[in-house]
Amino acid sequence: MASNDIYDLTIIGAGPAGLFAAYYAGFRGLRTKLIDSQPDLGGQVTALYPDKYIYDVAGFPKILGKDLVTNLVEQAMQYHPAVQLNESVQTLDRLPDGTIRLGTDLGEHPTKVVVITAGIGAFTPKTFKRPELDQWIGKGLYFAVRRKEDFRGKRLLVIGGGDSALDWALGLVDYATEITLIHRRDAFRAHEDSVKKLLASPIKVKVFYELRAIRGDSQVREAVIFQNKAQTEEVLKVDAVLAFLGLVSNLGPIREWGLQIQDDSIVVNTKMETNIPGIYAAGDVAAYPGKLKLIATGFGEAATAINNAVTFINPSASAFPGHSSSIMEHKEKAAEKAAAKAG
Ligand SMILES: Cc1cc2nc3c(=O)[nH]c(=O)nc-3n(C[C@H](O)[C@H](O)[C@H](O)COP(=O)(O)OP(=O)(O)OC[C@H]3O[C@@H](n4cnc5c(N)ncnc54)[C@H](O)[C@@H]3O)c2cc1C
Repeated sequence: MASNDIYDLTIIGAGPAGLFAAYYAGFRGLRTKLIDSQPDLGGQVTALYPDKYIYDVAGFPKILGKDLVTNLVEQAMQYHPAVQLNESVQTLDRLPDGTIRLGTDLGEHPTKVVVITAGIGAFTPKTFKRPELDQWIGKGLYFAVRRKEDFRGKRLLVIGGGDSALDWALGLVDYATEITLIHRRDAFRAHEDSVKKLLASPIKVKVFYELRAIRGDSQVREAVIFQNKAQTEEVLKVDAVLAFLGLVSNLGPIREWGLQIQDDSIVVNTKMETNIPGIYAAGDVAAYPGKLKLIATGFGEAATAINNAVTFINPSASAFPGHSSSIMEHKEKAAEKAAAKAG
């Protein structure tokens, strides 16, 4: 559906970077819209690890993914941005008056500036791509964990040697009755600290093992694993198989918008400007030398992108927002005065 309602700023992607960008845009007085193709706010954190603890967000020694998202949403929603979920941005073009028009699968969104916080693009966990294994999806085979409670009292087989596999195996120790983790090599790609924790945990770790078959009825009952050195098979009694094989991600339509793309990211300068005026990028999707794809860095980039976008909309505005502590105090006092005058 076409729209003539031009927003100051539209944010594509409501992960941690997009949510913090929405907060900052509201704080800077911009009329803001947030669009995400997922059904829920929170990006990768909500979709892939809501029940996992995050330890490296400034100010939180440890916080559950879903709690971080709740806080980010509360912070962003103070300024009531428009939120469009289940809507994927497909096209971007510029109208003769300079307005940018975003086209989604559901309609059009005109805006003065755009901040792209699309993360790794549309993402889905990799499956086995082997029908004899993938047929167990929904019957005890999982490629992501949404709720730890689903695994309480169960015997689990965890597959993988990366951060997701180790984090989840460790995160489910207090829920499952027994966990076996198999990995096809003896070298793990996960954080060193997680590997140390894994080896010190009650989890049975079997290296050089692969999944050969899953057996059961309406539910997973057994997993056949295969030692790829000795070429021997073993049968494990399990209630669930959790395979962490990585993510398939795709920037998709964003590649077609004329932005400078490097690998799967958008090249930005130190102001988070892309090569197209009025279009900024932040978070996992933004690329520059020395880039680290972390929540912490995404927050800083979002603040930089928004504050510079303010000067694009209003060239006489300052990029520096001032200190939120003093600005909010001033705003609260002004509101109190206005209320006293009215009353
Ligand atoms: C298992 C796991 C554990 C992790 N642990 C940590 C950790 O401990 N610490 C840490 O700092 N980082 C961690 N990360 C990485 C962290 O989650 C990412 O760095 C962070 O989510 C990036 O945030 P973002 O907002 O840039 O993008 P994302 O979280 O990827 O959000 C981007 C959003 O954009 C949406 N989108 C994409 N394209 C479109 C489009 N065309 N139209 C509409 N919407 C679109 C997507 O649907 C998505 O919701 C972990 C990642 C994983 C997978």
